[in-house]
Amino acid sequence: MRHYVVEAVVLKNINYGDSNKIYTLYTRQNGKITAVARGIRKLQSRRAGSMDTLNHIKAKIYEDSRGYKTIQEVEAVNTFKDIKADLSRVFRALYILDILNKFHEVDDGSEVIFNNLINTLNMLEVHRHPSELLVAHFEIILLKLLGFQMNVSKCSICEKKLSSEWDNVKFNYSLGGLICDTCEETGFFMDIQTALLLSRIEQKEFGNYSQDLYGKSMVQADAVIRNYMTYVSDEVLRYSKTYNILQGRILNEDL
Ligand SMILES: [Zn+2]
Repeated sequence: MRHYVVEAVVLKNINYGDSNKIYTLYTRQNGKITAVARGIRKLQSRRAGSMDTLNHIKAKIYEDSRGYKTIQEVEAVNTFKDIKADLSRVFRALYILDILNKFHEVDDGSEVIFNNLINTLNMLEVHRHPSELLVAHFEIILLKLLGFQMNVSKCSICEKKLSSEWDNVKFNYSLGGLICDTCEETGFFMDIQTALLLSRIEQKEFGNYSQDLYGKSMVQADAVIRNYMTYVSDEVLRYSKTYNILQGRILNEDL
């Protein structure tokens, strides 16, 4: 039995019993956790608003001897009001939470990934850069932090640096990177502008972007990132450090 404080982003919740909810949180300290908030669905619950999905919170957790967690006190650090006021940004933010949730088992995660999440949500809130670029940058960095770096700045075979001079460019999903115009490796042919855009997104060079000029490249860049995420998603979970431990625990508890 122990009490501790976590800093977290609320990923989602489900109703549990008459007045409770079970929350999935991505915490700075312990990665993804689930915890019960008792009585939170009662009308007079002061905690309810603080626990909205997407909120950045600080929560006091009580954990019993079996590892079950209860949220006792909660304080909102940032409710991301401006994101929530803009439907397209809400969907993008929820998409980010969804992929984080999918790529992590319970008790899995890291502080650098938490920081990447907070940075992205803060940038979406301020809205100085187009949200499609922020989301794509988040995905590329998340993949890198999970051990699946996309190589989008040079050829994966000969290491020649990507340039607009290349006659053509491919993306090879099993190598996780670009193939230049002289290397004989198979891959998905993409527009050179898409490859250059991916490279700039990775480097967080968001200047000079306009929907009119780069909209088509952005659609293709998005598709490459998402296909690559799908390609590696089984492996991410298979190699997740706690995956086997979790499996063991589920079998032991005979759920
Ligand atoms: Zn090459």
